[in-house]
Amino acid sequence: MKNKIHKYDFLIVGAGLIGAIAALALVQKKFKVLVIDKKNFILKDNRTLAVNANSVDLLKQLGIWNNLKSKPQPIDKIFIKDDISRKPLIFQNEHESMGNVIFNKDMYGLVRKKLLYLKILKTDNNFEINDLSPNKALKINKKNYVFKKIVISIGKNIISNTYHKSIIFDQQHFSYVGFFKHSKVHNNIAYEFFTNHGPLAVLPSPAVNKKKSTFIYSSKNKINKIELKKLIKTKITSSHGKLTFDHSIQKFPIIPHLVKKNDKFIYIGDSLKSIHPVAGQGWNLGVKDIQTLCKIIDQYTIDAKKFNSIYYSRRMFESTIYFSFTSLLNFLYESNFALNNEFIKVGYTALKNFKSLRDVFIKQAMGRINLTD
Ligand SMILES: Cc1cc2nc3c(=O)[nH]c(=O)nc-3n(C[C@H](O)[C@H](O)[C@H](O)COP(=O)(O)OP(=O)(O)OC[C@H]3O[C@@H](n4cnc5c(N)ncnc54)[C@H](O)[C@@H]3O)c2cc1C
Repeated sequence: MKNKIHKYDFLIVGAGLIGAIAALALVQKKFKVLVIDKKNFILKDNRTLAVNANSVDLLKQLGIWNNLKSKPQPIDKIFIKDDISRKPLIFQNEHESMGNVIFNKDMYGLVRKKLLYLKILKTDNNFEINDLSPNKALKINKKNYVFKKIVISIGKNIISNTYHKSIIFDQQHFSYVGFFKHSKVHNNIAYEFFTNHGPLAVLPSPAVNKKKSTFIYSSKNKINKIELKKLIKTKITSSHGKLTFDHSIQKFPIIPHLVKKNDKFIYIGDSLKSIHPVAGQGWNLGVKDIQTLCKIIDQYTIDAKKFNSIYYSRRMFESTIYFSFTSLLNFLYESNFALNNEFIKVGYTALKNFKSLRDVFIKQAMGRINLTD
């Protein structure tokens, strides 16, 4: 039947790590879902993700967590150091790991496989998003479809499309990501060093012998490989021993943004907001977008008039806080004013002296605090 219209609940545009997982979560709730992506291949992504405790719960619920190729590497402690205060800030949670480091490509591989098995992924589809509308017929690969809801999950690509309005806070940062082996074990400790030129994070990487780590250095200043390796050696040799770097160091542009809500679409993941990787929370916040969407579905029907506005009222607050906090943190360290240093010292001392304040930060980073629902 040539003119048959296929009626679906959700169209998800973008099959990245958030769009694809959102699709699996909605299918688990028995919705009819179709996912489209403009590319027909998985981008080669050698990065790792620090997956927080809340995101682990969702990955377990979807049968992903226990099937990852490389065993996740737990983060049991986080050391935070800067050039202003002499002693490090230590974050530790007694009851469960604060996060786990996994390879992006392991998760991509599994999630893609599931989409293909469910026959809900159509690639090589690059629509003019502005032309998409809920409850309006759309031709995809010669078939007619109608979708009740359209979820936009095209990552940061949203910024280049003028239809979608965003607040952009571009600090001209690039992130440099790589791996190194070390002679001492990392003891499942993650490190964050705040330098005047930008933050350097060193995280345990999946490896059975616990002698491999990954780094993310972000800065607006250009840095070559030799200078970067020297910086990392200065900061980490005492704890990690002799370092041997992998050859490849990848570079990513960082453009934090916060989309302005639009009642036609539901934005999730990096399409809703992208934040500086200093907090290692971008993807974890995307998981919260998915969880909020699923919770609203449990409380209202997807035809409910106020559905989209409820979603935005629940997700914009936390997104704005992370967007502002991560941008402010970089600004304070980078612009080397005496007043900024005083401001940092006050925050640092408060966190150092008050365990209850540290506990709030830990719970927030683990995704265990729900700011809106
Ligand atoms: C260096 C670095 C380190 C990071 N580390 C962490 C971390 O430790 N923890 C953490 O939580 N987060 C981290 N993040 C953030 C995390 O990587 C992102 O938040 C997450 O990958 C975003 O996923 P997404 O699915 O929203 O977007 P993407 O992964 O960008 O996926 C977008 C998808 O949409 C498709 N697409 C694009 N345009 C169109 C179109 N017009 N039509 C159809 N399809 C389209 C693309 O092909 C792609 O498949 C880090 C980010 C960086 C840069």
